[in-house]
Amino acid sequence: MPDLGDLYQQLIIDHNRNPRNFRRLEDANRMASGDNPLCGDRIQLFLKVEGGTITDIGFQGSGCAISQASASLMTQAVLGKSTEEAEALFRAFHEMVTGPRDKAPDRQLLGKLAAFAGVRDFPARVKCANLPWHTLKAALQGAEEPVTTE
Ligand code: ZN
Repeated sequence: MPDLGDLYQQLIIDHNRNPRNFRRLEDANRMASGDNPLCGDRIQLFLKVEGGTITDIGFQGSGCAISQASASLMTQAVLGKSTEEAEALFRAFHEMVTGPRDKAPDRQLLGKLAAFAGVRDFPARVKCANLPWHTLKAALQGAEEPVTTE
């Protein structure tokens, strides 16, 4: 586990051990799966989108702590949000983990997701953190094909 700072590390460990919204949605109307072969992470994402709002979300998956905690925190962050707000979070998260170091993350927008800011110092783990978000984007766009970080 990369050193992401104690508080944030605890958050990631907690969400890996106790993933939130870890379930298959029987009435999902959007689904996507994601695969990060570099690390062996897999995510299956289930969404219920009604009137442009994410009214329910669940995921199943396996892989490293970063990928599973990222998926868990993502489901909490986007539940109840509009699809536009979810896409804005996707962009902010993506920028935080791939952007220049001297650019501070938008903590007000990102909230607990800022726990992953330190990941940008570990290029191999960036794909782990991003995997659930790329899967979310595919689900929102209605993609049928599994997404891959490669
Ligand atoms: Zn991983």
